[in-house]
Amino acid sequence: MARRKLVAGNWKMHGLGADLGEATRISMSAETLDGVDVALCVPFTLIERAVEAAPGFAVGGQDVHHEEKGAFTGSISAAMLKDAGASLVIVGHSERREAFAETSETVAAKAAAALAGDLDVIVCVGESLDVREAGNALETVSAQLIASLPETFDTDCLSVAYEPIWAIGTGKVAGPEEIEEMHGHLRRQVAAARGEEIAGALRILYGGSVKGENADTILHLSDVDGALVGGASLTADQFVPIMKAGQA
Ligand code: PEP
Repeated sequence: MARRKLVAGNWKMHGLGADLGEATRISMSAETLDGVDVALCVPFTLIERAVEAAPGFAVGGQDVHHEEKGAFTGSISAAMLKDAGASLVIVGHSERREAFAETSETVAAKAAAALAGDLDVIVCVGESLDVREAGNALETVSAQLIASLPETFDTDCLSVAYEPIWAIGTGKVAGPEEIEEMHGHLRRQVAAARGEEIAGALRILYGGSVKGENADTILHLSDVDGALVGGASLTADQFVPIMKAGQA
């Protein structure tokens, strides 16, 4: 079964109201494309205005709390994201795993909370340079992935992003063989843990310095079902060529 590609942007802690013209341009371009899903995950403060600036377009958050509500100062629940107009959320980005000490168990709880709140979810995994250089990337990332998946999920609503930490925002891209090897390995491990049907339908995106110049190659590698894009998603000029590369 062919998996429809997903190209998602992650604005991280970038963007003010004045930047929403980019979201409008990106959404208008997405409407003209065939066979590819496109989404933008913006800061919490922009979600509602991004939905207004890009009606009908998939706008998401970049994190969610795993509890439904409560005394969690500064956190945002799935219901709050949904209420603001979000349709998806990223969980387990390496920047959050590192800076906020998020474990895979927390990430799995966040993913479950997002799905229960009717949000699609992108679960991120990836290894550090030390782990890659020690030759432990495959087993480290697959263990991280299996521990980060919620108990149950529908592959229409949950995607995985493999993002080697050493490739994020560095301009270094994992080589085609490294990407194919990791994506194939992750799919086999998901098959072993959750069954062939789920593994066959699961979208596994690549993230880490994806740009217009390398998107075509990356998005046509076997087992690559899309891209999670940081820096190059901030402007339509840079993001649209990546979206186009994801077309069927
Ligand atoms: C990311 O933050 O998920 C990412 C892949 O960033 P960049 O594209 O800037 O490397």
